[in-house]
Amino acid sequence: MKVGIVGCAGRMGRMVIAEVLATPGLSLAGGSEQPISASVGQDVAAQAGFDPAGVFVGDDAAALFKAADVVVDFTQPAATLGHARLAAKTGTALVIGTTGLERKHLDALKKASKKAVIVQAANMSAAVNLLLGLTEQAAAALGPDFDIEIVEMHHRMKVDAPSGTALALGEAAAKGRKVRLADAAERGRDGITGARRPGAIGFAALRGGDVAGTHTVIFAGTGERLELGHVATTRQVFAKGAVRAAQWTKGRKPGLYSMRDVLGMK
Ligand code: NAD
Repeated sequence: MKVGIVGCAGRMGRMVIAEVLATPGLSLAGGSEQPISASVGQDVAAQAGFDPAGVFVGDDAAALFKAADVVVDFTQPAATLGHARLAAKTGTALVIGTTGLERKHLDALKKASKKAVIVQAANMSAAVNLLLGLTEQAAAALGPDFDIEIVEMHHRMKVDAPSGTALALGEAAAKGRKVRLADAAERGRDGITGARRPGAIGFAALRGGDVAGTHTVIFAGTGERLELGHVATTRQVFAKGAVRAAQWTKGRKPGLYSMRDVLGMK
């Protein structure tokens, strides 16, 4: 399978290149970057620190979608929107790890998935996807007497908060409780906030250093507390998951899939 990488000079893009090069049966179709990137014109593998692969970084994502069987996207929401349209136009499968997607982006993915296989997950780690299931189960079993708080920490370069994974955990908790996250979420507290709103699902985001990603879901009851958590020590786990998803797209019918589909957890 030929894998194209949009955002190939980014932190995740370079890790995906490493995974593609290390995976038998996969080759690099090419990469794309923003026109201002210093990587444009360079060899895709070489600019990521590997032996040259003979394919080059371009600023034309349309050409990359034509050349690839599947494209992996760790960029930014506005770019992902354009990539979803290109997937629909070319029928090329698309794996999206970009976070910070809002309703309008998700609606566009849904539309594009009528014509192409799209896998979208805020977190590509197998263990985190298991944590999503456990969170839903715990929220359903413990009920509203337990206050739910979701705490996450990431490296200092992360631009969105709370993390896509924290929001996905919030969605899982809300589903378990049979409420809408939009109604229950409390994102950021400051000053005289008053007592905790009953039924709220709270979020706290910490930023610093090179933390790959830490998430804890706290169920705080009276006299006891349950904490479910995940710690990523390297961001390579996300690149591995993305490449696994890329392989999984082969031969699938168009549709919008999650990492839980890829891992057979549904
Ligand atoms: P980064 O800033 O290092 O890399 C993003 C790259 O995308 C940059 O090189 C940028 O130039 C490029 N880019 C932006 N717009 C583009 C466009 N229109 N065309 C081509 N390239 C474009 O960021 P990062 O740390 O690699 O993270 C990228 C995204 O992936 C973020 O949203 C992050 O939250 C998310 N992420 C998801 C997971 C997951 O498991 N789903 C894991 C880690 C990071």
